[in-house]
Amino acid sequence: MPGPASGTIATSLVLLPPVRIPMANPPAVDCELIGIREARRWQDELSDLVTDPEELIQLLQLDPAQLPWAQRASDKFALRVSRPFIRRMRKADPNDPLLLQVLPGAAELEVVPGFSADPLQEAEANPLPGVVHKYHGRLLFITAGQCAVNCRYCFRREFPYGDNHLNRQQWFAALDYVRARSELREVILSGGDPLVLNDRQLGWLAGELAQIPHLNKLRIHSRVPIVAPSRITDEMLSWFSHSRLKPVLVLHCNHANEIDSEVRAGLARLRGAGVTLLNQSVLLRGVNDNISAMENLSEALFDAGVLPYYVHQLDKVNGAAHFEVCDEEALAIIEELRHRLPGYLVPKLVREVPGAFSKSPVESGNNK
Ligand code: SF4
Repeated sequence: MPGPASGTIATSLVLLPPVRIPMANPPAVDCELIGIREARRWQDELSDLVTDPEELIQLLQLDPAQLPWAQRASDKFALRVSRPFIRRMRKADPNDPLLLQVLPGAAELEVVPGFSADPLQEAEANPLPGVVHKYHGRLLFITAGQCAVNCRYCFRREFPYGDNHLNRQQWFAALDYVRARSELREVILSGGDPLVLNDRQLGWLAGELAQIPHLNKLRIHSRVPIVAPSRITDEMLSWFSHSRLKPVLVLHCNHANEIDSEVRAGLARLRGAGVTLLNQSVLLRGVNDNISAMENLSEALFDAGVLPYYVHQLDKVNGAAHFEVCDEEALAIIEELRHRLPGYLVPKLVREVPGAFSKSPVESGNNK
């Protein structure tokens, strides 16, 4: 999985040419100052991640007996978590649903049959460094090799980000790949998390993509608006929402407690700028594997202007078996959600199947 051992996020992960972000009117001095202050704030926040299990255990007043296991699991897949996200966790509660998503533990060290390093076989859909092309009409750019948080269940926890760390020439090759395929309508910036990159880099990339005539949408997959909401700045909105391409942001939020007033404010800015906001979550044992947790999540998302879109069955990646929820249980939760919520608040239950042409619905009778 991405990331250096320290908590520092490199904001120049790719070598992109300098860019002027186009604006309708030149900014007034005050706006420039606000922009500098906004950029400094999110960059400081992402440079100050907690990466030492001991610090996290102390901050949350947890039992220090957990520490040796947390350290061993963190050696395999580093702990990374932002402080705003930690502030939403309950102190002295080892079962806090946000904590369980980020604290390394002994269960990750178990070897479980059926779980592997690359459960989605993405290596086979990686035609060029930085490009994952699995589906018709859209493809994914591995824009960054890091995230603001390392989710313990992440299916890319063993992804070879080093091989997908692009230099300038490789970026041009990736763009040429998109240019040469007129059936493509959408590029998805993913990672790692694209929003750990700075706006100069992302603005350049968005500008290049906007010049490809057959594209009509630019999608970002990100957990940053949840774990580091200060990242939603005017500068970010200017390259994302002022583009010719329709902006779509797919969040990753698994529990209602992840959404606080600062997250809601960031999402309101995105919505106000015309960004379509969707959420995908993962059904996780101990985190959201019950009806009230999923109902509260859908309601909290809607309250923040986000539609719940997918809930994923866990991808069977090494170290994540303890999060698995069986299909029967998952289907029962979704069925009950249908009784409690309007249809637009019931996410589709899906799983990724290697080689499939889209996400596969999980339905009675096709369980795996
Ligand atoms: S934010 Fe997404 S890509 Fe990053 S660790 Fe979490 S699940 Fe994986």
